Amino acid sequence: MVKDRQLVCPVCANDQFIETRAQLNTAVASLFDLDFANKEARCFVCSECTYIFWFRA
Ligand SMILES: [Zn+2]
Repeated sequence: MVKDRQLVCPVCANDQFIETRAQLNTAVASLFDLDFANKEARCFVCSECTYIFWFRA
């Protein structure tokens, strides 16, 4: 659940996700020119197809 909304995978329509945390590294940050380099993110990995939602922590 994110902001009281149920996450649904856009790829396979699955609603089961595995929550994890990841450190956003500078390589990824510079690749996408993000302003939150080296911050932590919440990730939700689809249990069916492994599509990943990223949320800035
Ligand atoms: Zn999926």
